[in-house]
Amino acid sequence: MGKQLDMISIALGGNPNCGKTTLFNELTGARQHVGNYPGVTVEKKEGYSSLNGKDIHIVDLPGTYSLTAYSQDEVVARNYLTESKIEAVVDIVDASNLERNLYLTVQLLELGVPVCIALNMVDAAEKRGITIDDKKLSELMGVPVVPTIARTGKGKQEVLAEVTKLAGSEKQPREFNISYGDDLDNALIEMEKIIRQHNFLTGFYPARWVGIKYLENDELIIEKGDASNKAVSDELKQVVKTVSKHLEATLDTYPEAMISDYRYGYIASVLKQDVIKRKRDTSNLELSDKVDKVLTNRIVGPLIMAAIVYGLYQFVFTYSETPVAWVENIFGWLNGLASDNMSDGLLKSLVVSGIIDGVGGVLGFVPLIMFMFFGISILEDSGYLARVAFMLDKVFAAFGLHGNSVMAFIVSGGIAGGCAVPGVMASRTLKSPREKLATLLTVPFMNCGAKLPVMALLVGAFFGKNEAMMMFIITLIAWGGALIVAKVLRMTLISGPPTPFVMELPPYRLPTIKGLLIHTWERTWQYIKKAGTIILGISIILWAMMTFPGLPESDLAVFENQRETIMQAAGAEVLSEIETAADNEEAELSAAAADVKAQLVSVDMQEAEKALRGSIAGSIGTAMEPVSQAAGFDWRTNIALVGGFAAKEVVVSTLGTAYSLGEVDPEETGSLGETLQNDPNWNPLVALSLILFTIFYAPCFVTVVAIAREAGSWKWAGFSMAFNTVLAFSIAALVYQIGSTFGFLVG
Ligand code: GDP
Ligand code: MG
Repeated sequence: MGKQLDMISIALGGNPNCGKTTLFNELTGARQHVGNYPGVTVEKKEGYSSLNGKDIHIVDLPGTYSLTAYSQDEVVARNYLTESKIEAVVDIVDASNLERNLYLTVQLLELGVPVCIALNMVDAAEKRGITIDDKKLSELMGVPVVPTIARTGKGKQEVLAEVTKLAGSEKQPREFNISYGDDLDNALIEMEKIIRQHNFLTGFYPARWVGIKYLENDELIIEKGDASNKAVSDELKQVVKTVSKHLEATLDTYPEAMISDYRYGYIASVLKQDVIKRKRDTSNLELSDKVDKVLTNRIVGPLIMAAIVYGLYQFVFTYSETPVAWVENIFGWLNGLASDNMSDGLLKSLVVSGIIDGVGGVLGFVPLIMFMFFGISILEDSGYLARVAFMLDKVFAAFGLHGNSVMAFIVSGGIAGGCAVPGVMASRTLKSPREKLATLLTVPFMNCGAKLPVMALLVGAFFGKNEAMMMFIITLIAWGGALIVAKVLRMTLISGPPTPFVMELPPYRLPTIKGLLIHTWERTWQYIKKAGTIILGISIILWAMMTFPGLPESDLAVFENQRETIMQAAGAEVLSEIETAADNEEAELSAAAADVKAQLVSVDMQEAEKALRGSIAGSIGTAMEPVSQAAGFDWRTNIALVGGFAAKEVVVSTLGTAYSLGEVDPEETGSLGETLQNDPNWNPLVALSLILFTIFYAPCFVTVVAIAREAGSWKWAGFSMAFNTVLAFSIAALVYQIGSTFGFLVG
């Protein structure tokens, strides 16, 4: 049938028994006829209606619950929707059975056709004590919703008016993407890229939809794909295979089940937002819903959330203490081994100070990281993190962010130990460019896995009694700061209206031990790998910057002279006593020998410090000192912070190297934490100031690149570097100044 100018073409879809045929009859009256869909025996009813002189061609699709390829009805409905150029679908939804009916709606929306929901049988629902807030439903799902009573024809004119509007609008309908969890979302991003690159089946279907069908193992689409381009189709199958294996191993599930879980989760969270009001309470709620009644309760929910996060920190710091000490001992032993067996010189300095004391400081926290990741995996795999996001949505909206931002925050290390790079990428799920920008500029404040060793080092060394509480406070400061900055940005540089939000709430699951271990190991291994490659590389560069150019001959001679003088004054007997004692750890030095040794050590330390200060990095750190002192940072800390621009772990490794280079007697050294504790330049106030600075200052280099890419310009990436650093320094300096004026935390 050729399309006429003044005619629009629509379809009626819906579950069996939703009142489709009744509405069809109401709309078309006598202007209808029955035929068959081409090639199949499924009955095809079509008819005509009109509105304001415009003819509307209507097809009554077979009733289906889904758009998979399980039944002929589903295939017919789906093919009609994709292959005939209809302008809109009226999705008829049974008001008293919303949850199940919306499952089809979600699939229609994913298919990319413009949808108008006819909320049918509102009379019957009313009788059962159910009222639906259609405005809210419309706002949350982003589609028009018209309450109807098909049996009396109530609402049919409004339905026609809405579909005419949909059909006439030039604009594409709002893109509808729901998240299917991290694993599948990433697979979909990858597949979408492949699909778009090759225009694979895109003449018929949206790219993401094709990806979803491959994940669902939809035979018809895969068959079509094979016929269209076998190579691309195989590539997609490979992605599916990989992610399927991963899901099987970690969550004991498969993509199709996961997809359906997340669709229902999405619907559940739409309905949870006061869309349905029931007069009499229903006692047959699902277990997940019952648990949610408590865990996402307005008052109890946040308290439980705080308790869980605090409990996690308590668990991590309590149980990781011993294994962290083991790993530190291993590196201490390695240090001793290298010190004893290598001859003095640059290579030894590189191995001991640059590699063992630098990278070792970062690797020392592997057990702590592992415990943290284990706890977070439990929260994530059980479905609790999704609830956290759900609860924080209202708070986020108040600060100009979006419910989807919560997940980006958590991914970035909202609880601890994430990474801002995937956090920045997660902001892609935000439709509003302003909310997206506000999100990607604030996620770097979270406590990512790279900041974790910095926090652990400082908290462990200076707040040893209240580690968990301190970590909890750090988390609150990071979130509070991020929210305030977001609010300020949204009121100034990127102001604009908020968009509604629907969070997918997957059902609770009991995490499997295997899944937890795999997730924990994957993340821990990332951390170790990064320490062994990137951090190692940067450590070596920083070691070189802290070592060269080295002291000039004249200075070396001065220190050599001082040593000579001390030794000559000491006499042969004392010197030989010191020498023998060096080979025998048990030996006690006489008072005279101990004094001479102390003098010699003091000269060595002065020499090392002078060399370090005169090095390239030392000059930079020293040059910054007049300013950085306002926040309590000395020149060594400055070097570490400059290194931290590359990656935040480098703050720890650089401090390790800087203090190691000044060290003379390896036998005497404890962990870096102990060294800092004993250093007169350090106290809890300095540590707090450094913690605050580390939370807020410029994102690491990789994150900056990610921000530039997601924001679409280097301008915002540059902004985030400059703005964050100024902000961080202001906060750190303010706290340090107040603290030192009133004598807080200085003891
Ligand atoms: P279909 O399977 O989707 O085509 O559904 P039908 O149009 O055959 O309707 C199924 C039943 O629901 C019929 O008995 C209709 O009379 C009834 N029905 C349809 N719409 C309404 C409505 O808005 N209110 C009430 N109370 N009943 C309706
Ligand atoms: Mg029917």
